[in-house]
Amino acid sequence: MVPYTSSMTVALGFNAADFARRPEGFGFLVPKKERRRLVACTWVGTKFSYRVPEDKIVARCFLTASDEPDDAIAAMVTAELQEIAGVTARPRFTRIARWPRSMAQYSVGHAQRIEELEARVGGIPGLHLAGNAYSGIGIPDCIRMGRLAAQKILAG
Ligand SMILES: Cc1cc2nc3c(=O)[nH]c(=O)nc-3n(C[C@H](O)[C@H](O)[C@H](O)COP(=O)(O)OP(=O)(O)OC[C@H]3O[C@@H](n4cnc5c(N)ncnc54)[C@H](O)[C@@H]3O)c2cc1C
Repeated sequence: MVPYTSSMTVALGFNAADFARRPEGFGFLVPKKERRRLVACTWVGTKFSYRVPEDKIVARCFLTASDEPDDAIAAMVTAELQEIAGVTARPRFTRIARWPRSMAQYSVGHAQRIEELEARVGGIPGLHLAGNAYSGIGIPDCIRMGRLAAQKILAG
């Protein structure tokens, strides 16, 4: 069994004119020892220029999931952005996306368990595994596993 944790993204949209100057860099990670709710933040328009108009700034924040109402989450994220990154602008919109049981957590012994699982699955014709539970949680890993599964299926 591979345990999963739940996560949440909170996108805050600002008018660029409300910033004294545009944020530098792609974003930031928040070390655990800071004891913040924010885990990471991406300045979306800096990372992917085509996603945000020039006169807007979008901060996409990552957090561990919580059952708090959207209003409370938006207020907390806005306050932390101000404390951490000095953002005093008021967000013009907020979008919250909840991703329950989405982040696979590999515990000690994972590699061996997956080896055993693959050996068993290998004995069942037509069944192939791909996904973040097995050998890598990033999207490139999932694509690699998907391609490999497709190749095995094509090879019969
Ligand atoms: C908020 C967040 C941000 C992330 N950011 C990045 C990033 O920047 N870069 C990166 O590389 N990775 C990132 N990841 C990790 C990466 O997105 C995931 O690990 C990857 O998408 C998982 O792919 P998957 O195919 O295993 O699962 P999923 O993409 O979750 O697909 C599983 C599919 O199975 C469906 N499903 C579930 N149960 C059933 C059922 N019983 N019957 C039928 N269908 C079912 C679901 O609806 C879903 O469509 C992020 C993950 C999260 C949650």
